[in-house]
Amino acid sequence: MASIFGHAVVGFTISKTLTNKNSKLLLFFAIASTILPDIDVLTFSFNVPYEHPFGHRGFTHSILFAMLWATLLMFIFGRINKIIWWAVIFLSTISHGILDAMTSGGKGVGFFIPFDNNRIFFSFREIVVSPIGIEKFFSEWGIQVIISEIKYIVFPCFLLLFAKKLHDKFKNLYIS
Ligand SMILES: [Zn+2]
Repeated sequence: MASIFGHAVVGFTISKTLTNKNSKLLLFFAIASTILPDIDVLTFSFNVPYEHPFGHRGFTHSILFAMLWATLLMFIFGRINKIIWWAVIFLSTISHGILDAMTSGGKGVGFFIPFDNNRIFFSFREIVVSPIGIEKFFSEWGIQVIISEIKYIVFPCFLLLFAKKLHDKFKNLYIS
């Protein structure tokens, strides 16, 4: 994984960029959905091997899982804004696997499970993989993680949010 913080920043940015109204519920679920795929670390305690389709970076990191999760939340919460709910939740959930596929460690991401169990990395792998567990995070390793995430996650997200702010400002000026 990238760090929980790195994933959450992406969920925040997706929700804020794609919506105009401040839906706190959608924002909450967008952020939660960026972290949700790592629920599969629990399978380690059941001795499911990493490479297994239900192992770490397996099914919960797949495109199908993101689609199903987005569809479920869309039907439960997306009263009027069904498409926005689906898009924000799908993008937030799949962003987790996308970031993982750009990390320097672990195994690849099973984007196409259950149709294809291969684990995939992108050729760009500059995000330093985050340690699992808090103690290890406060270390030289943790600092490397923070620096790489500021460069490759926080900074691009900041630019997007800034562009969205500008866009909203000019749109209002134009209308009034
Ligand atoms: Zn992950």
